[in-house]
Amino acid sequence: MSRFAPAIGIDLGTTYSCVGVFQNGKVEIIANDMGHRTTPSYVAFNDSERLIGDSAKNQAAMNPNNTVFDAKRLIGRKFSEDTVQKDMKLWPFKVVNNNEKPQIEVEYKAETKRFHAEEISSMVLTKMKETAEAYLGAKVKDAVITVPAYFNDAQRAATKDAGAIAGLNVLRIINEPTAAALAYGLDKKVSSERNVLIFDLGGGTFDVSILSIEDGMFEVKSTAGDTHLGGEDFDNRLVKHLIEEFKRKHKQDPSQNKRSLRRLRTAAEAAKRTLSSSSQAAIEIDSLFNGIDFYTNITRARFEDLCSDLFRGTLDPVERALRDAQLSKGQIHEVVLVGGSTRIPKIRKLLEEFFNGKQLNCSINPDEAVAYGAAVQAAVLTNVKDEVINDVLLVDVVPLSLGIETAGGVMTKLVERSTKVPTRAQNTFTTYADNQPAVTIQVFEGERAMTKDNNLLGSFNLQGIPPAPRGVPKIEVSFDVDANCMLTVTAKDTSTGKNESIKITNDQNRLSQKDIDRMVADAEKYKAEDDACRARVSAKNSLESYIFTVKSSIEDPAVAEKLDAKDKSMVVDLLKDAESWLERNQLAEKEELEHKMKEIQDKVAPVMSKLYSGGSPGSNGSRPTTQGMNGNSEAKGPTIEEVD
Ligand code: AMP
Repeated sequence: MSRFAPAIGIDLGTTYSCVGVFQNGKVEIIANDMGHRTTPSYVAFNDSERLIGDSAKNQAAMNPNNTVFDAKRLIGRKFSEDTVQKDMKLWPFKVVNNNEKPQIEVEYKAETKRFHAEEISSMVLTKMKETAEAYLGAKVKDAVITVPAYFNDAQRAATKDAGAIAGLNVLRIINEPTAAALAYGLDKKVSSERNVLIFDLGGGTFDVSILSIEDGMFEVKSTAGDTHLGGEDFDNRLVKHLIEEFKRKHKQDPSQNKRSLRRLRTAAEAAKRTLSSSSQAAIEIDSLFNGIDFYTNITRARFEDLCSDLFRGTLDPVERALRDAQLSKGQIHEVVLVGGSTRIPKIRKLLEEFFNGKQLNCSINPDEAVAYGAAVQAAVLTNVKDEVINDVLLVDVVPLSLGIETAGGVMTKLVERSTKVPTRAQNTFTTYADNQPAVTIQVFEGERAMTKDNNLLGSFNLQGIPPAPRGVPKIEVSFDVDANCMLTVTAKDTSTGKNESIKITNDQNRLSQKDIDRMVADAEKYKAEDDACRARVSAKNSLESYIFTVKSSIEDPAVAEKLDAKDKSMVVDLLKDAESWLERNQLAEKEELEHKMKEIQDKVAPVMSKLYSGGSPGSNGSRPTTQGMNGNSEAKGPTIEEVD
């Protein structure tokens, strides 16, 4: 793999991730090594290896403390934040406080390891990158990654860092609703302003965003939602219902047993999916609890009834988003469905009715629409020439006004909300007191007049201002917002030329370049370990399958009768030894396994070739039947000839 592949688009989701690429005039969503078009955002660690994606999720129940998911709920956040504290209570894995940065603690290869959320996300990104590389047959370098519209500066920056740790050049971080709108080409339908509502209901999160799109400019007007609502809640309702039914029928409680509960949950999720296309689903679980089989049916109507409050409740954030954007439902031109749970017919119906029968945009797979749009954006940013994309011009705007605090706690804006990015603004300030030696620049975002009502992004001091009466020193403050909506603030004393700057993303919560470099090296080390592990598993498989093949061939009566008794017992002993060696050396290295294989092959091969060559006769004097087949007892090697 030497040539570079086209830039890819990655939807880095809370529960699932998805990757796409724009090629040959269209977007391809790429399936992973399991054939799945979305990959669980899961990373697991155990005594011998690291697992990412499906293989990590599949073993979660057996290894809950070392199976990490939901890293997106931690990325760019501080340990003491309310949401972090609340989420921690729900996770089976441990989160520790490292200088206000949350870290996930796991046991890996019998050692305690700590990872930042950026590192876990980078592992998921690596998996997506490798999925694309396997499909494209080339190394992937450039990527566009999506984030929720409500992600703040620190969360965006941390996501970008995760990309860098995965060895990706992150071309742009774009908003998930913007990507979904791009997937539907809503930016080019007409040139007048369009209001688009994106309804994104996934496995564990629900986001509603209203965008206004005009001349390729995407403005997020409002966002609303519920960070803990999604398909898993519907699964829970079904599980609860099934437990009650089991209890009624069999007077026993299957929720007592973790394994029974897990099997119920899997069956409930499958039934829920079936109910999106059929009016009834069968649930058949053999020996669910205390040897009792559980066979039942559930109708779509019943399922809708069990979840009716949750389904109906999804309209509340829609109303909230409309209110915040100061739009009526009649002013929404397009409604876009995103997330696997929007396949549920009742949810579609409720939404359609709410928008007075409006047709919903749902032709693109809802779990793939965000990655689809990210792939389009990746093509745009790498100047792919194609009529499908050549008129896409995506410009993000600053979501909230940016400014600094001035005397009396006043918010003095430098950049107004909805300004196109990248942008730069400058203003001159002065001191408040005589002989003031330093000024504190406090940077805020928000629309309110007083900073106490807005959101503090960061602060820094400019020291060493020469003594002067108040109002005399001139302090130039400039704001630079880059294409990813990330802000750098610089303050300069014009008399001395002395300046200080702060990349807002570079607050104490952000990884330093040194951290990132170390993590890149670690990521390479983990990848090398994964590769070594894969090679080891493959060598072990080869050895096991060789033992099995030889064993079954010497047990084949047609072969057995031709085999010299001494040879046979030598091979039987050899295989027994090999099996017990494998038993004892579960963690043997690839080289040891290959060496063992060669050792056995060297002894088995002459015995086998005797059979085929029709060489030495068996002790009972019988001759291999190859002679009968090819009529040539003197054949030197295995010959083959048509049988007449
Ligand atoms: P996402 O995070 O967008 O991939 O959403 C995954 C969620 O969508 C999971 O809770 C799935 O159970 C749910 N889901 C996927 N397909 C369907 C379907 N056909 N009907 C109902 N829910 C589905």
